[in-house]
Amino acid sequence: MLAIRIHQVGGPEALKADDLLLPDPGPDEVRIRHRAIGVNYIDTYHRSGLYPVKLPSGIGMEAAGLVKAVGANVKGLKSGDAVGYCSGPLGAYAEAANVPAGRVVKLPEGIGFDLAASILLKGMTAEYLLRRTYAVKPGDTILFHAAAGGVGQIACQWAKALGATVIGTVGTDAKVGAAQANGCDHVIVTAREDIAARVNEITDGAGVPVVYDGVGKDTWQASLASLRPRGLFVSFGNASGPVPAFPPSLLTPKSLYVTRPTLNAYTATTAELRESADALFAVIRSGAVKVEPPKAYPLANAADAHRDLESRKTTGSLLLRPPG
Ligand code: NDP
Repeated sequence: MLAIRIHQVGGPEALKADDLLLPDPGPDEVRIRHRAIGVNYIDTYHRSGLYPVKLPSGIGMEAAGLVKAVGANVKGLKSGDAVGYCSGPLGAYAEAANVPAGRVVKLPEGIGFDLAASILLKGMTAEYLLRRTYAVKPGDTILFHAAAGGVGQIACQWAKALGATVIGTVGTDAKVGAAQANGCDHVIVTAREDIAARVNEITDGAGVPVVYDGVGKDTWQASLASLRPRGLFVSFGNASGPVPAFPPSLLTPKSLYVTRPTLNAYTATTAELRESADALFAVIRSGAVKVEPPKAYPLANAADAHRDLESRKTTGSLLLRPPG
């Protein structure tokens, strides 16, 4: 089968097409024939070496498709089930994968393969960020960076549905409309506006109780400056590069809190994973969160998807389409 893999870390050209033989699933695994594969920013970190992996390695964490075989110990899943996953072993950029059954969710009625591969990783991230890292409540004004991106598309609409006033940032004027469509009440264009000054203006000098920052290096200082006293800086990604080490004394003037969360830690057990997925499916099926049709690339052209994602050209979710 076709599998996109990395033999050496590097730019998008490090993504190589290999012809792999997939072994039978282990006793606790299911084999899934992929119909849609999610592209996530974390995939670029694995490819570039920012998050080291043992090489050679598969790449990709998210896909949806049909169960084709089940291991001897697997209960509750059978051949033909429509399923998705986003926290299995690396290797979703392939025609099929063997995934631990405990990391798989069944797709309910109304959640097709493209939608599932567009929302599982990004939407469960939105779920834990907004409901469990800092529980957003009606009346909160929050700041969310990259509001037109994949996580941003879901999180901003969800925060709005929870009753928040949402301030979103985007890189350029071209993405303002997308951020507004995602429920942002205020959109800050980082190429020409000072983030903290605008937040200060919008909140009448109060600052926000929480900043969700997946951009990292370019925004962390503005994020701290945008917080109100005792506010929470949620640093959940590094799209512009990692946040450098900084002394806790930077937090002193406003007694700020910092957390650096991961989806894996918030969906560590199968029960947590399925609760998170159920909450996501419910908010999608309610219509409160809508997802734009994703941009799809042939699996063999995964490098193009990475180039587009890293050049800040994209909005919403990206997919890879396996052949056949
Ligand atoms: P996005 O679709 O949001 O793409 C990243 C966006 O970041 C870009 O579109 C761009 O938006 C913005 N950005 C700002 N500066 C840069 C830069 N220098 N280079 C590239 N992009 C930049 O990606 P995802 O939705 O997949 O992920 C968003 C973030 O969430 C990532 O940091 C990812 O690692 C993180 N994440 C973290 C998880 C966790 O559990 N910790 C789980 C899932 C995602 P603009 O041009 O509008 O600024």
